[in-house]
Amino acid sequence: MNKIILLDEKMISKISAGEVVERPASIVKELVENSIDASSKNISIEITNGGISYIKVLDDGIGMSAVDAILAFGRHATSKIKTVDDLYNIETLGFRGEALASISAISKVTLKTKEENELYGTLIKIDGGKIKEKNKCGCEKGTAIEVYDIFYNTPARRKFLKRPSTESTYITNLVSKMCLSHPNISFKYIKDKKLELVTSGDGNINDVILRLFGKDLYSSLIFANYESEYIKVNMYLCKPSFNKSNRNMQMLFVNGRYVKNKVYNIAIDEAYKTLIPRNRYPIIITYLQISPKQVDVNVHPSKMEIKFSNEKEIFEIIYKTIKKGLAKTNLIPEVKSKNNFSVTMEKEDINNGEQTKIIHSEYMNYFPSSKDSIKSGNKDLLPQEVYERENVDVLKSGDYEIYEKNINKNRDYKIVGTLFSTYIIIERKDAIYIIDQHAAHERILYEKYMSEYNKVQGKQTTIPILINIEPGDMEILSENENILRKLGYKYECFGDNSIILREVPIILGQPESRQLFIDIIDRLRDNNFSHNINLKEENIIMMACKSAVKAMDSLSDDEIYQLFNDLKITESPYTCPHGRPVIISIKKYELEKMFKRVM
Ligand code: ADP
Ligand code: MG
Repeated sequence: MNKIILLDEKMISKISAGEVVERPASIVKELVENSIDASSKNISIEITNGGISYIKVLDDGIGMSAVDAILAFGRHATSKIKTVDDLYNIETLGFRGEALASISAISKVTLKTKEENELYGTLIKIDGGKIKEKNKCGCEKGTAIEVYDIFYNTPARRKFLKRPSTESTYITNLVSKMCLSHPNISFKYIKDKKLELVTSGDGNINDVILRLFGKDLYSSLIFANYESEYIKVNMYLCKPSFNKSNRNMQMLFVNGRYVKNKVYNIAIDEAYKTLIPRNRYPIIITYLQISPKQVDVNVHPSKMEIKFSNEKEIFEIIYKTIKKGLAKTNLIPEVKSKNNFSVTMEKEDINNGEQTKIIHSEYMNYFPSSKDSIKSGNKDLLPQEVYERENVDVLKSGDYEIYEKNINKNRDYKIVGTLFSTYIIIERKDAIYIIDQHAAHERILYEKYMSEYNKVQGKQTTIPILINIEPGDMEILSENENILRKLGYKYECFGDNSIILREVPIILGQPESRQLFIDIIDRLRDNNFSHNINLKEENIIMMACKSAVKAMDSLSDDEIYQLFNDLKITESPYTCPHGRPVIISIKKYELEKMFKRVM
């Protein structure tokens, strides 16, 4: 029995339609891109029921003649010239003039379009790929395409759609990206009859970010940039306290196109390492201008995934630009009376309508230019001595005491005390700073230990410590011998199931050495560490710091002062090595608001 049959035209059109039109968001994407290609200045996007029942994209672009309006729905019908090595074409290449054909094959479409100097426009209605009506009509210059009942004739595909609210979210995210990549176009977005968003189209990216994501995120932005002969990078970074549980808000626009790139993500992870908790992702919007020749086009177009020909260099540039931006900025999260006192804020609601606000001019001043953020430096971070820390470094140890006494007199902050044996309260000018002493101590030890570790000096002899081990542990220990040695451990076998520790890392006091080593073996045994050797080392160091910190309890004023000084000279005083905040601030003004002294 023959099993193979030849598909008819109708079937073919449905199958290939499936490739291009995956979901309502892909239709919106195709239509909006067509509007952009048609040199529109204003584009309005309207959806109902997650776009499943209705999508309308209206533009004021060049429009189509009556003849073109029919041709546009034909397969492989395109007015666009494309060159293969042009990045611009990476996404459209895959569709080869097929979008309108594919969309009209699986839905009901109404098109109205008019060219600038024509008296009449053209109206076309198509159901499932068949033209039902073609007429003259009165309309403005431009094109309006309405799409009804997606997949009405392919129920199997319709089943794969998610809930309308989820499909809406896809579209909202897409619209955000369109707005960010084309700040010169004014977008209007209407969802279920409600106006969600309007952008001005005046070319100002700051303005778009403010309208899309609201003023909280906007006022936490840091600008960083880089420019060389062939590459230009503009980055809008968020302070680490703004982070998300996924990478949706790590956007990359290459030559004006939204794309995805693995190296970009890795560079971000590296740059924010220890500044945010694990499995959280910072918010970053990056614009990269590069010669299209440096972009590998040999990647699947619909996935938007691209490769750079020199990925290593791109990594370096992204990594260093972020580092530069963060280093020049006060990263202390500020507690505001409105934001529920949550410090590691989960801005999951970033894309919902609430955040879509019309611009307020007062916020325009918040956005620091790159020059400003460099100039302001760590100014608000810690007392004046931060800036003088270079001076501290050059002093000889004997001078230090004298220097300190000076400093004490001129200190511009006051140690108020400690709360719950955990939080140090400091008052300075118009703000209070709350420091988690354990997190601070952990950060200090971590950096100290990391640098010692790299110099391989960190061990001390100890009284012999006998540790019982489980069968198989000896093998684990010998596999990791190099790391443990480097950390400062020296041990030898003692019978079949015990070892004797003879040297331990210098940073640990005696009482903790034993338990920490047992914990390290436990985690090595359970395969709980990364297989990446550097990460493994870091993890062990983090554990070491944590166990050292546990022992610390209430501190005297002198100890607090010392801790504070030590913290100041760390590279990242804002978070512990696990990415939790070390220091937060509350402005006096916020307290006054809470107590209703000001309204
Ligand atoms: P492609 O965009 O790859 O050319 P499409 O199927 O998306 O293929 O569109 C087919 C053609 O229809 C386009 O090349 C363009 O000439 C015309 N077209 C589509 N949408 C618009 C629009 N909004 N304004 C003007 N012309 C349009
Ligand atoms: Mg197109």
